[in-house]
Formats: sequence, C-alpha cells, structure tokens
Amino acid sequence: MTTQRAELEGTVAAKGLAFGSARVVYSAKIDVETEPLPSAGIPNEVKRFEEALKTARAELASLSDRVSGALARDLSEIIDAHAMILDDPEFTDAVVALIRKDSLRATAALKRQRDLLATMFEGIDDPYLRARRDDLDHVVARVYAALARGGAEPERKPSAEGQILVCETVAPAELAQLAESGLRGLVCTASSPYSHTAIVARGLRLPFACGVKHALAVVHEGDSILLDADHGRIVVRPDNIDQTRFRTLQKEAERVRRQRARIKVTDARTRDGVSVKLHVNAENPDVIAAARRAGADGVGLFRTEFLFMKRRELPTEDEQFRAYRDAIVAMAGRPVTLRTLDLGADKAVGGPLEMALEENPALGLRGIRHSLVHRDIFTAQLRAMLRASAYGPMRILLPMVSAVEEVREARELIEVCSEEVRRSRHPVADEIPLGAMIEVPAAALVSADIARHADFLAVGSNDLAQYVLAADRNNAAVAANYDPLHPAFMRLLFLVLDNARQAKRPISVCGEIAGDPRYTPLLLALGLTEFSMHPNALADVRETVGGLSRKSLKARASRLLHAPDRAALAEIVDAMASA
Ligand code: PEP
Ligand code: MG
Repeated sequence: MTTQRAELEGTVAAKGLAFGSARVVYSAKIDVETEPLPSAGIPNEVKRFEEALKTARAELASLSDRVSGALARDLSEIIDAHAMILDDPEFTDAVVALIRKDSLRATAALKRQRDLLATMFEGIDDPYLRARRDDLDHVVARVYAALARGGAEPERKPSAEGQILVCETVAPAELAQLAESGLRGLVCTASSPYSHTAIVARGLRLPFACGVKHALAVVHEGDSILLDADHGRIVVRPDNIDQTRFRTLQKEAERVRRQRARIKVTDARTRDGVSVKLHVNAENPDVIAAARRAGADGVGLFRTEFLFMKRRELPTEDEQFRAYRDAIVAMAGRPVTLRTLDLGADKAVGGPLEMALEENPALGLRGIRHSLVHRDIFTAQLRAMLRASAYGPMRILLPMVSAVEEVREARELIEVCSEEVRRSRHPVADEIPLGAMIEVPAAALVSADIARHADFLAVGSNDLAQYVLAADRNNAAVAANYDPLHPAFMRLLFLVLDNARQAKRPISVCGEIAGDPRYTPLLLALGLTEFSMHPNALADVRETVGGLSRKSLKARASRLLHAPDRAALAEIVDAMASA
C-alpha cells in the first residue's frame, strides 16, 4: 500500500475543516444477474422485486421515525422524496414490465430502468433537479441491497468516530446517521453542491468536498486525511508540514468564529459610512429562520418554485398563502420578496406540471412566460401572495422578464386579482411593489424602459451571465466560459445598475456573485447597495463591506468598465480588495 502524500481538489459543497481517517466505500455497483430467466420463473422474479420494494419502503419509514431535532424537517422531506420514487409507477411498473417482457432478472431490470431515468435527469438544465439523479441512485441502491440480501437483516454499520467518508455519493439519511456516530467530513467523487446530501451536510455543519475525481483511486481505508472544504482541497497521507499548516488554518478558523460570535450583528456599512442592505435568497422556512439569526435586512428572493417540486399535485391557493404568510410573519417587518413561479418544462419533470419536454428549455417557456400562458396557475399564486400581503411588507418579483409588455400584463392581472381577493373579504396591502428580474440580455438592454413599468429591479446574475456569455451555467465543459469577470458581462451589469439609478428604482443583485466576497468590491464600485444571498454568506460579505471604502472603489469604476479582457479585469478586481 502506498504511503505517499497526495493532494486532491474538488468543489466546495459544505464549508469547514476536518481531520480524520478515511472510511472508504466503493460504489455499490449493481452486480447484474445476467443468466436468462425462464418464463416459468417470471412470477417469482416479480415477487422478489416487489418484496425488495417493500423492504426498502419499510427501511425508509423506520428512518423517518428515528430522526429528530433540527435536521428532522430537511431529512423527512428527503425521505418522502425517496418514498415517492419507490411508489412511482414510472419506476416500479417499468421494472416489472422489463422482467415480464424482456425476461430480465430483477437486478438487470432495475439497472436498465435506472440508466434510462438517469439519462433523462442528465438532460435537465436545472442544477437542483439534476442533483435529483443522486436521489434516484440512492433509492436504487436501497432496493438493490434488499434484493441482494434476499430478506436478511441489513448489517449494522460500524461507528464513524473520527472518520472522513470517501465515496462516490452517499444518501442524505445515511449521512445523518454517520454524523450522529461521529463522522467528521465527507469527500465524494460525484455529487454536487445542489444535492440533498450537500443540503444535509450544510445543516449538519459537516465539511463536504464533492466532485473529487480520483479520490477513490488515491485514498485507502484508514489513510489520514486533511479536508479543507473551505477551498475544496484534500491532502491524503499528509506530512508534518501539511499538519502544521492545517493546524494554523484550524486556529484561524476558530479565531474568526469566536470573533464573529462576539460581534453584535449590525447593519452593513462601508468604511466611509455607506449603508448596504444585505438580503437573503430563501427556498423554505428553515432558510428564513437562518436569515433572521444572521441579521438579514429582508428576503431579496423567495424561490417559490420549491413549493411546486417533489410532489404530485399543484399546491393549492390556501397552501401557498400559508407558506408566504409564514415567511412574512417570520421576517417580522423586514420585507419579503416573493418571486412568482420560475418553473419551465425542464424544471417541471417529476413535478405536478404536465408540460411537453422542450428541446432547449433554457430558451423555452420559463418564468413569467410560463405564468402568462398558464393563467390558472399564475392567478392562484398571485391570489395567495396578495392575501399574504396583509401580514407584513411584501414585494412581488417576476422571473425571466424579456420585455416591458410582460411586466405590464402581470401588473394588470395583479390588479384584477386584488379586486377579487378584496371582494372575497380578504385584506390586501395598499402598496405591493412589483419588480422585474433582469436576467435576460434583452431585459438588460431595455432596463431603462422596464424600470418605468416596475417598482424595483433584481439582477439574476446567474442567468444573465449564462445568456450573455452563451455558456450553460450547469455545464462543466464550459465552466471557464461561464465567468462573470468578462468585460461584456461587467458592462451590461453597469448599464442595468445605472438605468435603475437614473429611474430612481431600487435594484439588487441576487445571483451567486452577490454572496461571494471576491465580487463585493466590484459590485460596490458599480454602484450596488443591495445584495441578496444565501444566509451562510452574510457574515463574510458584511465583513468585506466593512473593510472597503466606497468612495475609493467608485473612483476605479471607469477602469473596470474599460478593461479590454478578462485578465485585465481580474487584476483590477483583485487590487480592489484593499480599496
Ligand atoms: C439568477 O438567475 O441569478 C437567479 C437568482 O435566479 P435562479 O438562480 O433561481 O435562476
Ligand atoms: Mg434565474
């Protein structure tokens, strides 16, 4: 066995530092039974598969009963999602049909159906939904394990005390159990920061680096590992120098943590006294609770489409109303920006919206386009939002706007809905600002006109960058092209910010760059004073803002806008960190 030191790199999925010994789990590759199935054996094979499904369901139900505490909510949603796959005829009936029609053994049929569904997931351009492929694999692994055991009890897993798990991917529920038994960190060759596993790891504060390609080839059971999941770096079999460096990192992280715990959460202000609003992007009530703890100024983006996912039926108006109202009440007087549905045909897969699959979903019936076509769904959502407006400050935000007409049409519909809601004796706030997301180049170019029809603007820099740079935000092959530090993106962003300023409309940026301290000086230099981000990013961005002088940043804006290429731009941006 090699004792040589090795370094690996991956993607940050849950920040933190961990030191431990490797617990290596090679992927439970499905060992398919290839021998032909005689027709007399078919009924028995179907029964075997059905028994395995039953076992998998029972295991999930018992997991559900066992989890408790803060994580229970996240986890129970995930367990429900897995149970739904087990009950989904597209999955189960198809496997049975393969056993019956193609005379496949249960494991072979399971594998074939898994591969088919996995290919469909691969084609999805939404990272959240694409990460659901992990869910499918976790369910398949559970059924496969039940088939392989043939009714025997599962083995009890040894304690994970002091260990770092190295594997292809791990199911969220299993991760939570391992964490309970002392797991210190996670390194996966696959998975993504959008996976449920990553969500659970962040909730557990368990350092997690994903996409660490060669981890399973390099790491052996029991190897010492230093996991720096703040930067996605892993040292395997570290030497003394690595260990000393790591201890320094740990001490520094501990110092920052203590310092932060002492600081009273205050308003974000630059060194020269410019006040900056820091809002959060939220998808569920847990994020809202975290936002309050972190002292957010409001919710800059509530992604309502998450209410429409992982379920078979559309949420009713009442159900939506309760979710929006709870978010508004929880923010106790700080504004909540509810974005209308941003689902398109791509994001509708597996959800309650039955829509045709589109060839090019990123350019398809997404966001406001979808809402204006499916009026019944849109009106139910608007009515729920309007009813919630009686409980505190609320704004409505339209996604994927590409023309002034869409804002106008939505405003007219909101007025009609307000009248109806009031007539049905529900109070509605007098003023509900209506905003437009600027995430399509056309909208950016006509943002001066859109600003006249909207009460505020929000730049969706994730999508704006992908459309301006013609680089799919989820395609690793064009990750280098998808770089906001491109002169074209920079100039377009400035145009939008300047148009909002001239029209005297509030504007925020709510894509990932708003929560990345590297871009904080640049955004301040371009004139931004409202940021919206994941709650975990608030403290870093607040601290970065506090160390910068807006006046001296603004003096460099013109150099930014005239930078001829990426390298020049990156140099200016890096130098701004000390402005
Ligand atoms: C964006 O595009 O930047 C944005 C915030 O919206 P989403 O990431 O939900 O598409
Ligand atoms: Mg977007």
